[in-house]
Amino acid sequence: MSESALRLVWVYPDLLSTYGDRGNVLVVERRARQRGLDVARIDVRSDQPVPTSGDIYLIGGGEDRPQRLAGERLRADPGLHRAVENGAIVLGVCAGYQIMGHEFIDDRGQRTPGLGLLDVWSTRGEGVRNVGDILAEPDPRLGLPTLTGFENHQGITHLGQGVSPLARVTVGGGNGTGDGTEGAWRDTVFGTYLHGPILARNPAVADLLIKLALDVSALPPADNTWYDALRAERIAAVQLPVQ
Ligand code: GLN
Repeated sequence: MSESALRLVWVYPDLLSTYGDRGNVLVVERRARQRGLDVARIDVRSDQPVPTSGDIYLIGGGEDRPQRLAGERLRADPGLHRAVENGAIVLGVCAGYQIMGHEFIDDRGQRTPGLGLLDVWSTRGEGVRNVGDILAEPDPRLGLPTLTGFENHQGITHLGQGVSPLARVTVGGGNGTGDGTEGAWRDTVFGTYLHGPILARNPAVADLLIKLALDVSALPPADNTWYDALRAERIAAVQLPVQ
């Protein structure tokens, strides 16, 4: 592996990959390799330190107890904070998103501190769980097409002044606050409720992470045939009237 390889860090696959988020790792690897980039993939289990020298960090979703354990361990490890200070790119999905905020509700119903990497905080929704397909229009500054995904969460995430919504939902719950927002982002740190996994359904998001990591404004084109077929299928399915 060359010195200049893109360093892709998958945080806690043993705790936070309940909802197929491994697909995100595979898509970043593949999209980077299709552009001729060498990728060094580093899977960090929850009993290992988070390296500070990664370029892109992916944190997946999880059930309430693994989420609490992951939050406790990440709080005790300065690695992710240092990486962000160094300009690393982070994408957290669902439990990973909630952990990146100031606090979330754990499996015992307790308010639990998060990492404070995003100015958001999560409470527990009183209503039905947000489960189902989701469509959302991304923040225009990100230059992304419509986002498609699948959400499955009880938590509701409230956004502070220090972040922008990642997108606005047209179908689905998103942050669940009733204001139509979905996810949050600031600089190089992104949080979302979109599983799917998000990068398999939205390869433009994988490309955005790679562009930010390389500090370039464009990448060579890559084949989108299968991604486009999946997107078209899911968008059509979501827009069909419920039987
Ligand atoms: N346990 C969290 C919730 O239900 C996150 C779930 C998830 O990661 N899909 O809100």
